[in-house]
Amino acid sequence: MKFIDTHAHLYSSDFDNDRNDMIQRAITQDVALMLLPNIDKESVPLLKKTLKTYPKHTKAAMGLHPTSVADDFENVLQNLYQELLNEDYVAIGEIGIDLYWDKSKQAEQTEAFKIQIGWAKQHHLPIIIHSRDSFDEIFAVMDELWSPDLRGVFHCFSGTKSQADKITRTLQRQAQRECIYPHCSPTLGRFTPL
Ligand SMILES: [Zn+2]
Repeated sequence: MKFIDTHAHLYSSDFDNDRNDMIQRAITQDVALMLLPNIDKESVPLLKKTLKTYPKHTKAAMGLHPTSVADDFENVLQNLYQELLNEDYVAIGEIGIDLYWDKSKQAEQTEAFKIQIGWAKQHHLPIIIHSRDSFDEIFAVMDELWSPDLRGVFHCFSGTKSQADKITRTLQRQAQRECIYPHCSPTLGRFTPL
């Protein structure tokens, strides 16, 4: 069986010393494709470098991560949108709302999330959602902007079964199970279709 890793920031400088080894190990373990979600303006050249070094095994998503949303987010989004047009990106991400670290930018994060869902609709691309302490806020936006062709994965999900059900109903049953946080129910994965 071949696997696709839908979320790997392999381009991060944290991996400068062992990136190649890591990617080769993944390929050996039947990971056919690794999807690189963008974070901010600064990460774009790093992402593109990794994409060009491993063209057979990586694809990339373009977007502004919620924890990188600052006062200048509209300018940054304009920049990233140009980048979206330049390359063959396969998704919009990662995008969403994160109220775990800082609640002061909730309005800006929400606006950035909405704008980027608009990109996904316009270009018929799936979205990679980052949600942390923000399920209701994310779904207020999703309910407002939902359309039948909106697809994607939830990354960083730490909610309940009923919330997971809502995700799978909304995102055409393409929710990704990703239980990496300590308060995520270990049994939740059983209920989420891959
Ligand atoms: Zn991420």
